[in-house]
Amino acid sequence: MSLKLHNSAHFKTLTDIPMELLERMGVKALVVDVDNTLMPYDKDEVPAPIKEWIEEAKKRFIVLSIANTRPYRAKIVKQELHIPAFSLSLKPLPFAWWRAKKKYHLEPATTVLIGDQLFTDALFAAFTGLKFIRVEPLSHKDALHTKFTRWLEKKLFS
Ligand SMILES: [Mg+2]
Repeated sequence: MSLKLHNSAHFKTLTDIPMELLERMGVKALVVDVDNTLMPYDKDEVPAPIKEWIEEAKKRFIVLSIANTRPYRAKIVKQELHIPAFSLSLKPLPFAWWRAKKKYHLEPATTVLIGDQLFTDALFAAFTGLKFIRVEPLSHKDALHTKFTRWLEKKLFS
């Protein structure tokens, strides 16, 4: 069985995403996942290349984070990247998007979600109408429930 994802693109890591292209597409805001997208699951700091990429991205777009991660990890993201970060967001449910949309005046058509998981990030994008860019996980370590959804992803999408 194979499912096709619409409205989506794939890059190895965040730093491979061409910002010029996003600008030309009319993208105004980036919503970025935390675990294994901004920070490896097993490390409590943002790698330097990702930090630099986010600094550059902030000059061009509204950048914020919506993640199912724990509050202390979102706090690290806030401190190191100086962006708003929503934790325990219950992705793929859309509630955190509704809050962020209102607070930061975002539009789905000009917002891209960047994340490493199909069952949280891609579904969240599908439920909210956001464009989706998938990146490969920064670390092979995952939470236990993520191990299961990755196994399911492989079954369904490869
Ligand atoms: Mg993730």
